Amino acid sequence: DVTATKGNEFEDYFLKRELLMGIYEKGFERPSPIQEESIPIALTGSDILARAKNGTGKTAAFCIPALEKINQEKNAIQVVILVPTRELALQTAQVCKELGKHLMIQVMVTTGGTSLKDDIMRLHQPVHLLVGTPGRILDLTRKGVCILNECNMLAMDEADKLLSQEFQPSVEQLIRFMPANRQILMFSATFPVTVKDFRDRYLNKPHVINLMDELTLKGVTQYYAFVEERQKVHCLNTLFSKLQINQSIIFCNSVNRVELLAKKITELGYSCFYIHAKMLQAHRNRVFHDFRNGACRNLVSTDLFTRGIDIQSVNVVINFDFPKNSETYLHRVGRSGRFGHLGLAVNLITYEDRFSVHKIEAELNTELKQIPPQIDKDIY
Ligand code: ADP
Ligand code: MG
Repeated sequence: DVTATKGNEFEDYFLKRELLMGIYEKGFERPSPIQEESIPIALTGSDILARAKNGTGKTAAFCIPALEKINQEKNAIQVVILVPTRELALQTAQVCKELGKHLMIQVMVTTGGTSLKDDIMRLHQPVHLLVGTPGRILDLTRKGVCILNECNMLAMDEADKLLSQEFQPSVEQLIRFMPANRQILMFSATFPVTVKDFRDRYLNKPHVINLMDELTLKGVTQYYAFVEERQKVHCLNTLFSKLQINQSIIFCNSVNRVELLAKKITELGYSCFYIHAKMLQAHRNRVFHDFRNGACRNLVSTDLFTRGIDIQSVNVVINFDFPKNSETYLHRVGRSGRFGHLGLAVNLITYEDRFSVHKIEAELNTELKQIPPQIDKDIY
């Protein structure tokens, strides 16, 4: 339940007295779940990648640690909060000002579409916390008026939007102006797979918080079958004949293999759709929509389909190709067994995959068992 809290109080975080006053005066009585998860971690200096629903208090989840960490005596920009739009910048700065009402922290907003000269003037005054859009902040930084070498924290709100083509190059260049050990906090309600790249390059062992998609492997029985590559289709055919599939998702590791396998499955006489990232968006939407409505029993997919998808009638996931890492495994296999439903995962394992299995078992603290000759329908 994403609304249930652990019962923490803002006092528990040992915040500056003045900050605590601001929090209470704003009418916050106790931290929301995303705040409970993020604030203590952010205060330790750890990078964070946090996902939570709209309207659950993400703004304060990064503003409170930001305000706490700023040294008011030091005349330097110590925190940058990046957002994708001007409206959001103003709103976020307002939250910082309200929460920091009793602190002596100077907050400045800067976004495109306003006078650069004014911004340059304002940057001659002390600024501790800068809120704005990436392009403008980068402009000011390149001109040498915005100095980020004491900026120890970067918060990215609507982080996935900030990593879209429009913003990502500016964001990356900005990070290069900051100290190497800066802390990065990323927040969003949505994190597409494309974030992974950025995360691997810029975040240091981030603490991942996900209050959206409670993926767990609880309730999912996981089997493996040792096969040779050329036996995989035959093995799949056997599975189809033995399993009672409500709906299944079958994962392959490449676009080509998805298309080839879908063709093979159709030839075997089973109904099958496929989906991958090289398809046009409209086509993808249609396939997804039809599959969700039960128009077809089986869906062959790349990892495009692994995140956030919630189709309760999927009771079987088959890794036709074994995933490369445990995170992908979790997201794929977590497609079944949603919200207390039971599920079954079958992994076709080749000789080359054998070490990955142990690694994934260890990392996810779970167990894959050899597939038995008969599988009891009650477990999925
Ligand atoms: P999000 O960014 O997750 O969509 P916001 O940060 O905009 O959500 O917060 C949504 C609303 O909840 C705001 O009006 C905010 O003032 C309020 N809010 C945030 N945290 C708390 C809290 N701990 N107690 C009460 N209200 C809160
Ligand atoms: Mg928000």
